[in-house]
Amino acid sequence: MEERIRHKMPKEKKYAKIAIDGPAGAGKSTVTREVSRRLELKYLDTGAMYRAITLKLIEKGIDLNDLARVKEVLDKTEIKLNDRQEVFLDGKDVTGAIREAEVNRLVSPVSAISLVRRRLVDMQKAIASESNGIVMEGRDIASRVMPDADFKFYLDASIEERARRRRIEQLGKGNDMTEDEVIAEIKNRDIIDSGREDSPLTRVDDAIVIDTTDMAFEAVVDKLVNIVKSKVS
Ligand code: C5P
Repeated sequence: MEERIRHKMPKEKKYAKIAIDGPAGAGKSTVTREVSRRLELKYLDTGAMYRAITLKLIEKGIDLNDLARVKEVLDKTEIKLNDRQEVFLDGKDVTGAIREAEVNRLVSPVSAISLVRRRLVDMQKAIASESNGIVMEGRDIASRVMPDADFKFYLDASIEERARRRRIEQLGKGNDMTEDEVIAEIKNRDIIDSGREDSPLTRVDDAIVIDTTDMAFEAVVDKLVNIVKSKVS
């Protein structure tokens, strides 16, 4: 792999494809954002795309079992993310709205619908192939979206730590959930994300696994950046 990177990447950092997978609350988003900034690579939060389509289905009151209606909505939906990771749904800024509790509750069931996944995976593959290097985070990036990624990271953490982080995040938005509520929500998402048939949360065999439970955010970022730099210089 190193040979290929050297051969193909005169300015390596500009062209690396980096996949970061892991469960909810493992620290992917904050870490990925900072890694992309330090390596000067484009960043794509694929979870935000699933959240955006979930928001639209909620707003339209679509029954998730009614696949014909789900497809109809998908066909008429445009999701765009800019470099500041602001999310636009049919032209409207939904950056804040996609983090609301109702979206949290329904995003995993929506993400388990095969036709939703196929559509979003195709969009993500297109973004990866059009960009000169990217850091993409999600659940199935190394396994499905970018199986040819130059670096495949899998971030994990204990359920208690993941719940603690989620709770702080929710508190910041004024949602005071109890610890038990957060743990229940995370466990539920884990079960759906790992158990679905179509591109589930996957830790590929060649992933570099990092347990972030006892690590400071900066230490995780340093670790990833150093691994990438050591392989491409
Ligand atoms: O990363 P985040 O927690 O925002 O993702 C929200 C949900 O979107 C996940 O729980 C998962 O159900 C779904 N998702 C997915 N595949 C991805 C990214 C996110 O199914 N690549």
